Amino acid sequence: MTTVNSVLGPMDTSEMGFTLSHEHVLITSAGIQTTFPEFVPRDETIEEGVQLFKDAKAGGVDTIFDLTTHDLGRDIRVVEAVSRGSGVNMIAATGTWRDIPCVFWTAEVDEIASLYVRELDEGIEGTGIRPGIIKVANDVGGVTDEGEIVLRAAARAHQKTGAPIYTHTWAPERVGDQQVKIFEDEGVDLNRVCVGHSNDTTDLDYLKGLLDKGVWIGLDRYHPVARPGVPDWRARTDTAKALIDAGYGDRLMMGHDAQVRLRIASKEAFAERMRLNPDKFLFISRNALPYLKENGGTDADVQNIMVNNPRRYIEGAS
Ligand SMILES: [Zn+2]
Repeated sequence: MTTVNSVLGPMDTSEMGFTLSHEHVLITSAGIQTTFPEFVPRDETIEEGVQLFKDAKAGGVDTIFDLTTHDLGRDIRVVEAVSRGSGVNMIAATGTWRDIPCVFWTAEVDEIASLYVRELDEGIEGTGIRPGIIKVANDVGGVTDEGEIVLRAAARAHQKTGAPIYTHTWAPERVGDQQVKIFEDEGVDLNRVCVGHSNDTTDLDYLKGLLDKGVWIGLDRYHPVARPGVPDWRARTDTAKALIDAGYGDRLMMGHDAQVRLRIASKEAFAERMRLNPDKFLFISRNALPYLKENGGTDADVQNIMVNNPRRYIEGAS
């Protein structure tokens, strides 16, 4: 038996079931809830989140990884309330996204690592709610100096606690390769790393190269309407099928990178995004997975990607 920390407390990994590997309940900015709380739609997010995740649960979603870090305004009590109200298990994250605080830029790696370790061991902001994953992010332009501090800190926090690492990348620039290099330099077991947002590219050489290093791959951006310059959801699913055919079906996970509320987009843009996606957190279940099966994917492939792989990733099974 292996346990993982969900926002409602430790749970047996056998209870994870159908798991979306990269979602968010609420995204704002670091510290804003304390200083300018009018930017934080807490009550609406809880109300809408409970309904959206009740619908997701009824549609077969058992668990999500909520990869919202402190610099995305993580409000762990909101996530807790949405999990409790909806019945969907939620595994939260420590770590840092792209909005790396200036105070980290001149900090020692071990100083940052100890912050992540504290959250993993003792809980977030005195709540006792413990994350289960360490999230880090590098985007367009690759790994910056301050990005490297955070990556190394994540590596060391992982080594101290055993919590796995899940990254945000900009796949068109093969940023995952840079991350893997740093994790290798830190001596991280790459079986404990998932390179996320990897379906922003269809470059199979890049993806297979990462997989051959031993990482997991997050095919974790899914939306009915493609942003300019990145693959649409069918092309993303074709990439998943190509990786399955190449023998990597037991190393892939899927998520939408969707939110109940996204306060860093304009209200109009987010409302439009929600309007264009009537399936919300069931988009993969209702569109990508049926399309995968129409194109030769099997029930066993779906079981691997949506159930077995997230569990094995959390457990550290090879
Ligand atoms: Zn995300």
